[in-house]
Amino acid sequence: MSDAEDNQEEFDDGEQVLFRGPMYGREANLKKNPRLVQAGLISVKRIISSGLARRAHTILIEPKGPRSIVRYVIDGIPYVASQLPGKMGIAVVQMVKLLAGLDVQSRVEAQSGGILAEFDEDEYRLLVETTPVRGAVERLKIRVENVKESWLTPGDVGFPDDLKMKIREMTEEPNGVILACGMPESGVTSLSMVVLHCIDSYLYSVFSVVDTGDKKLINVTDVETGEDDDLEIQLDRILRQEGDAVYVGKVSGPEQAELLFQYSDRLCLIGEIESRTPAEAVRKLVDWVGLERVLPGLRAVISQKLIRRLCEDCRQAYRPDPRLLKRLGLPRETTVLYRAPSPPSDDDPNAPSVAELCADCNGMPYHGRVAAYEMFEMTPEMKEVIAEGGTAIDIRRQMVKEKQRLLQQDALRLVVSGVTSLEELKRAFASPKAGRRPAKRRPVKRKRPRA
Ligand SMILES: [Zn+2]
Repeated sequence: MSDAEDNQEEFDDGEQVLFRGPMYGREANLKKNPRLVQAGLISVKRIISSGLARRAHTILIEPKGPRSIVRYVIDGIPYVASQLPGKMGIAVVQMVKLLAGLDVQSRVEAQSGGILAEFDEDEYRLLVETTPVRGAVERLKIRVENVKESWLTPGDVGFPDDLKMKIREMTEEPNGVILACGMPESGVTSLSMVVLHCIDSYLYSVFSVVDTGDKKLINVTDVETGEDDDLEIQLDRILRQEGDAVYVGKVSGPEQAELLFQYSDRLCLIGEIESRTPAEAVRKLVDWVGLERVLPGLRAVISQKLIRRLCEDCRQAYRPDPRLLKRLGLPRETTVLYRAPSPPSDDDPNAPSVAELCADCNGMPYHGRVAAYEMFEMTPEMKEVIAEGGTAIDIRRQMVKEKQRLLQQDALRLVVSGVTSLEELKRAFASPKAGRRPAKRRPVKRKRPRA
């Protein structure tokens, strides 16, 4: 077990979560299941309260051998929080299902739902997913959304001004496709909404053809729809209402993409596509709808990577080695960078505990996340590369040549401004597998740059 375990009791006397009922119009019948409530409710409250107090954005309960492991994912890093004996693990998962109004009788099919909750004067949406693992044992995943933190406008997320201005310029004419790309749960949907909100909605009329649920778009009109209206009818209606731009949500296949590109000479279309990088998204679109649609229709593809923000209370300043600056291509006049404080010594019994190091971040020593961005832009030279059958690597090479915004470089901007550390970039840009490994609660010892 991780050394995180000894901290599991620390929030037990603190604030307790209040459950306000299931989402999606479901009902939670606690009275009908008194034994389950007795067996699981207190533990569920403890696990979720402790997770919210630590700012977990995901809570996982996974069966492992005869036990279940509780993990909190905080700023993208999973931490082992506690483990539950087998029966308790099952009771906790069943109790969460009951609170979300799911079917507690069934443990052999995947289910999803949500719970409205309140904690420390904030409202939360707890999005619940269960997956059967073996026999009647399930894996539980709870995604935590703070209702107040919507992160949908350029201002909310600290979207760079020059990128915002570029997207504004691209959307001055009512034509072209602009997509956010990313893998599921990478924040790609929110990013597509941020891109949409870059449009000057006082000058242009912006519509949406998707139900964005709880995420409310600002100054965007939902297109009126009849029961049998398909996407084509909706887009025609927007044209008749002299719309300039449309939020189209996720572009998930060739047919839908083909239809959208057919309208890309009369409407500016903004949405998202599943892809690791903008260059790969461009190739995917070429495969789906062909060069004759992509070259004139596509304007830009943007992606983001979330990077942990250094805790401002305990970050340590240092003077970087000039050779290091040169190697990274950072400005020579950079005199100060920041990094996490050194971890407490394991040998010294009097060393402060992790939580004592900094009250703000509990010695993490990161607090929240910030995004670095990459943006593919269609240019005449880029069109030639794509038309000649260029691969994703060729497209990226052309992006470098044209000095388009690239993820790693943009992330270094965050290092120079003291928002994050070089060590965090190394972790964030390591292979995805390495990034997913549960981290120890204490900061990992760093290699010092050779003086
Ligand atoms: Zn701190």
